[in-house]
Amino acid sequence: MVKRPDTMGYFGKFGGRFVSELLLGALEDLEKSYLQFRKSGQKELNRMLSEYGGRPSRLYYAANLSQKWGAKIYLKREDMNHTGSHKINNVIGQGLLTRFMGKKRIIAETGAGQHGVAAATIGALMGFETVVYMGKEDMRRQELNVFRMNLLGTKVIGSGDENGTLRDAVNDALRDWAHNADHTHYLVGSVIGPHPFPWIVRELQSVIGKETRAQIVKAEGRLPDALFACVGGGSNSMGMFYPFLGDKEVRKYGVEAGGKSMKSGEHAAALEAGSPGILHGALTYLVQDKEGMISPVHSVSAGLDYPGVGPEHSYLKENGDVQYVPVSDKETIAAFQELSLAEGIIPALESAHAIAYAKKWVAEYTDKNPGQEPMIVINLSGRGDKDVHEVKDILSGT
Ligand SMILES: *Cc1c(COP(=O)(O)O)cnc(C)c1O
Repeated sequence: MVKRPDTMGYFGKFGGRFVSELLLGALEDLEKSYLQFRKSGQKELNRMLSEYGGRPSRLYYAANLSQKWGAKIYLKREDMNHTGSHKINNVIGQGLLTRFMGKKRIIAETGAGQHGVAAATIGALMGFETVVYMGKEDMRRQELNVFRMNLLGTKVIGSGDENGTLRDAVNDALRDWAHNADHTHYLVGSVIGPHPFPWIVRELQSVIGKETRAQIVKAEGRLPDALFACVGGGSNSMGMFYPFLGDKEVRKYGVEAGGKSMKSGEHAAALEAGSPGILHGALTYLVQDKEGMISPVHSVSAGLDYPGVGPEHSYLKENGDVQYVPVSDKETIAAFQELSLAEGIIPALESAHAIAYAKKWVAEYTDKNPGQEPMIVINLSGRGDKDVHEVKDILSGT
């Protein structure tokens, strides 16, 4: 287990700082500032997570689902946070860090708009000038999130050509930061990018796993048999798993977007079907072809639609601490419906990936261990209000 990456930001061979000279100074300053902020800013961070974010989030015993599946199932309710997902944990922390560094401007990248809206939220609250880069195609598809960001006082800038997506947005954000780092913080949305971002975002999201640990011990008197979380860039899963990495008896499953099929271009399962390469300043698993060209990605959930994954996950995959598995769009939609019906909780499509795999895992477990009920925790990374339109179209076949 790596307490924190070594000074160059490596998790085993993964991670690092593959960036232009222009960014090196900014990354070093950021690392130094965060080390100081960690000591002096913790109290204010905890206060804001509680007062503004709504923490601690509940660990909810899902009695109906438990009975249905023949297991003890707990849901970590990140869907109940302000703005509807775990993303608020990260933006509150980096917002306070921005203030600590004396900067007045933040920039962020966004795919479907979830991190963009979270960054815009913290920009409004803390009075930062806020700019969000978003692929031009994503802007068209997610018009309402663009409006939300505008409502929160954020300027949204289109990235790439007409087909521009998240990758183009990250590139633009890095370019902006290279020129404006003296007064601008790049508020990265997941455990991706060059060191120190994967480490900072993991630290900020680890509140999920720390709370879960205390809550499950209080409820059950022991640690769970298994943890499940979806993996896009990998921040909600990293936040859930990290405080349990020393506990080998707790199995950990990171669930990736298996999309329509495992054929190239039809999924976003970087760990399952990718290979190591460099993207956005870090060495990590990517979906790419033999020449190292990034392949197109697809997932029914926009939040998992990213060709790479945080470098620490690549490390955890190779050393076997976490198992990574894909789940298809179809299985995801079924899980989305099942949780809605069983518990009256509509999950985000991203989170529904974790639910779908947990169900398969429980079935296999009870098959192998007759008469035994495993006790598990599923991280419900967000709520599904944003997804009902999409699911309606899919279910009605349009
Ligand atoms: C953004 C998002 C994700 C994917 O991001 P990670 O960094 O992998 O956590 C998952 N779930 C929800 C609800 C999201 O908004």
